[in-house]
Amino acid sequence: MKNILTIDLEEWFHANYHDDVFDPQKTYEVRIVQNTERLLDLFAKHKAKATFFVLGYVAEQHPQLIREIATAGHEIATHGYAHQLVYQQTPAVFKEDVSRAKKLVEDIIGKSVKGYRAPSWSITPKSLWAWEILEELGFVYDASVFPIETYLYGLPSSPRFPYHPQYKERTLNLLEVPSSTVRILNKNIPFAGGFYFRALPYSLIAQCINTVNKEGHPAIVYLHPREIDPGQPRLTLSLKESLIHYYGISGCEQKLIRILKKFEFTSIKESLNYSAEH
Ligand SMILES: [Zn+2]
Repeated sequence: MKNILTIDLEEWFHANYHDDVFDPQKTYEVRIVQNTERLLDLFAKHKAKATFFVLGYVAEQHPQLIREIATAGHEIATHGYAHQLVYQQTPAVFKEDVSRAKKLVEDIIGKSVKGYRAPSWSITPKSLWAWEILEELGFVYDASVFPIETYLYGLPSSPRFPYHPQYKERTLNLLEVPSSTVRILNKNIPFAGGFYFRALPYSLIAQCINTVNKEGHPAIVYLHPREIDPGQPRLTLSLKESLIHYYGISGCEQKLIRILKKFEFTSIKESLNYSAEH
C-alpha cells in the first residue's frame, strides 16, 4: 500500500506558540528554497510523490519554487496565507486569508487547488465553522484535524480515518483527512510527523506505519522543510517550545531517507483518487 507524504511549505520562523514569534513586517533569512530543493531531490531519488500545503506568504515570495514543485508531479494544496491559528480568527478573516492564499497559488500553477491544511492543526472544537467555509470555497478535502488532545491543538473526538464531517446537522461534502495515529490502550497516539517524527526512533515509526496499513489505511507523514535544516537561525522560544520546535533536527533527514527507502509514498490527491473536476 502506498502511504501519504505531506509537506507544510513554510519558513523556519512560521511558528504559532505565541503571537510575537515572528513579525510579519520584518525581513528574515530565506531558508525555504534550499531546504525544499533538498526535499525535492530526495523525493525524486526515492520515487515519492507528496502533497505540499503551500503557505501564501511563501508562494508570493517564491513563485518559481511552487512551479518547480508542481512540475515535479507533486500535488499543490494550501496552508492559508499568514500562518495564523484558525481558532484565533473570525470566520470572515479566515475566509479572506484562505481565499487569498488559494487564488495566489492557483494563479502560479494554473490549476485549481483542492486541499487545505490549517496552521498548527488549528481546526479544533473552537473552530469547526471553518469546515463550512472550506466547502464554500470549493475545497474537496481538509487535512487540519489531529484526533488527539494537546495544549496547542487537537480534536480528540474525530474519527481516525477520512470522513465527511457533520456540521449543524448536515453531512458536509468536504472530506476530512485526519493526521495519522495508532490506537494504544484506547488512546490515539501520534507518530507520523513534526516533533513526533523527530523524537521517535525509526523502528517505532516504521512499526506504526505498518500498523495503520494493517488497518487498511495509508499512513500520513507530515514534515516541514525546516526540519531537515540543522543550520537554521534560532527563534526566541521558551524551553518547552524550543524542544517542540528543534528536538531531533540533526537526525531528521537521515530518518526520512530510511522511511522513503522502506515505504512507497504518494500525494493525498492520488491516494484519495478524486477527479480534478470534483
Ligand atoms: Zn504550518
